[in-house]
Amino acid sequence: MYDIIIVGAGPAGLTAALYALRANKKVLIFEANSYGGQILNASKVENYPGILSISGYEFSHTLYEQVKNLGGEIHYETVIRVNEDKSVITNENTYNTKAVILATGSIHRKLNIEHEQDFLGKGISYCATCDGNFFKDKVVAVNGGGNSALEDALYLSSIAKKVYVIHRREEFRGEAYLLDELKSKSNVIFYLNSTISSLVGNDCLEKIIVKKENEEMELLVDGLFIAIGQEPKNECFSNVCDINEKGYFLSSDGVHTKTKGIYVAGDAREKNLRQLTTAVSDGSIAATTAIREL
Ligand code: NAP
Repeated sequence: MYDIIIVGAGPAGLTAALYALRANKKVLIFEANSYGGQILNASKVENYPGILSISGYEFSHTLYEQVKNLGGEIHYETVIRVNEDKSVITNENTYNTKAVILATGSIHRKLNIEHEQDFLGKGISYCATCDGNFFKDKVVAVNGGGNSALEDALYLSSIAKKVYVIHRREEFRGEAYLLDELKSKSNVIFYLNSTISSLVGNDCLEKIIVKKENEEMELLVDGLFIAIGQEPKNECFSNVCDINEKGYFLSSDGVHTKTKGIYVAGDAREKNLRQLTTAVSDGSIAATTAIREL
């Protein structure tokens, strides 16, 4: 019997493990893919307090090492269900525990066009606040029409030489005050009713092909920030957690779910800011709450 099972080995899950292990709890972490979560995609992290600059990989690996050094056990299995009695069912086995922390993260919605993965970290980014500084005085494009895209474009307009905002509709989903501010920027150019049909480059992204109605045009860019929403993957936990209409976990106070002994942490839960700082904060709070309530 474990004290705490943690689902997800991203920053929230690994931080929860770190706190639980330091409290001498018997901890098991499940990860479906590789440890590290989305931050692995960041070539450099320069907005984490106290660290000047670190690669996403180095950050994740150091956190992983911290957990392993404390005896943390990671099983690379996919959790397919958690029952009310807190039994955890994976694609391989059933495990019993006193508490469960769901830190399942969310993934950036992909454009799903050719070379999107090839240019990741080589021009393509899903996080302007993480990677924007690498495009100082360069030409970038932002794709999307929600608050994230508008905020990303605003942020980038103060760093990059030119920012193209490409959105598939005429109207923006994001808030008017953000749009008004963006429209006041002289280096921001809008392409509305437009979609990105191709990504072109050799080693790095060099241009994008933008389609508007039946016309196609080429835009030379150094970077493309894709901000077309997030996709949590929480449906299989809906028996033990309330989930909002977008698929994020609802919690009464950031960590508690409707089921006693089952907690949530990180990007998978409904929240306003999805950053490394907020993920590790969630992980530490979820673990200390679980320990207190064991
Ligand atoms: P979002 O609000 O879901 O917007 C996603 C945008 O991407 C929409 O404009 C959508 O177009 C477009 N899109 C979706 N799939 C696409 C595709 N395959 N190809 C091209 N475009 C596509 O996502 P978000 O901006 O990441 O925001 C997520 C949530 O966080 C929202 O609730 C948002 O309000 C909130 N948020 C709040 C703040 C803030 O309050 N400061 C900041 C950031 C995010 P359509 O409009 O045509 O559907």
